[in-house]
Amino acid sequence: MIDRRQFLRMGATAVSMGVLSRALRAANADRPAYVDMHTHIGTYTNGNKELTAADLLKWMDEHHIEKAIVLPLVSPESTTYLQTPEFVLRETKPHRDRLIPFCSLDPRAHLSGGQEGINGIIKKYVEQGAHGFGEHKVGLDIDDPLMLRIYEGCSEAGIPLLFHMDNIRGKDKPGLPGLERVLSAFPKLNFIGHGPGFWASISGDVDQKGLGGYPTGPVAPGGALDRLMAKYSNLFCDLSAGSGSNAISRDLAFGKEFLIRNQDRICFGTDYLQPGQEVPQFQVFEEQLELPANVFAKIARGNALRLVERPA
Ligand SMILES: [Zn+2]
Repeated sequence: MIDRRQFLRMGATAVSMGVLSRALRAANADRPAYVDMHTHIGTYTNGNKELTAADLLKWMDEHHIEKAIVLPLVSPESTTYLQTPEFVLRETKPHRDRLIPFCSLDPRAHLSGGQEGINGIIKKYVEQGAHGFGEHKVGLDIDDPLMLRIYEGCSEAGIPLLFHMDNIRGKDKPGLPGLERVLSAFPKLNFIGHGPGFWASISGDVDQKGLGGYPTGPVAPGGALDRLMAKYSNLFCDLSAGSGSNAISRDLAFGKEFLIRNQDRICFGTDYLQPGQEVPQFQVFEEQLELPANVFAKIARGNALRLVERPA
């Protein structure tokens, strides 16, 4: 048996990176299996690429992922083909030991029902098996009065909320003052941050345009994420998608320290949503970062499991 370091020294010249990654994952089999905080099923934007629950489970088996959170998408700005909570609850039902459904609701729907109506809808989804709310990816400001109704409903139901932030969905300003307002207004609600606007805020020098993109280069100190993570115990981070992996890999030294500093509230995630999709997180975690084993275990699975435990 060769260990990971010996394998890395062999280099990628003899074997393709894909083969290297698979071999490394096999070498990592003694590591705890992942819980993926962020996946989707159904069709996303490419009508020819559908991902079924069976496809997702097969991919999870290949990548040492024990469980995955499956997120619906219901807002018109969120994707081309909507993925309703009813679909996600139904498709995950035979696999609830591994696929953990969340629910979703656009706050611009059900306006006539008011706050009570929204609370009732969310409560019903929880009774049907939803362990959380999201992906909350709505074309409004993160602290829009309509968004507050959703936060109130989730807080009432005792489930976490996973949100997407960029310059179109869940919008905010550099420094994330809107997110800070909602974190302080809903102290019992666990917010799980994701998306370009959220992750670009790891750096203190991000401008409005940067909140919609994938800034590269060294992270400047004074970022909103460290500040908010230190101040609000109800903020969590979802490392999924290009935004999450880029935030860590753009400055690996800072990224590693950020993960260690905030090790109790960061969750591994991929945003896997269509067959054949490249997922950079495996390389970042298994080949680029050398996290202490206890930190890896928390980020890879422990934090997510703690978050999605159902209220008693
Ligand atoms: Zn997503």
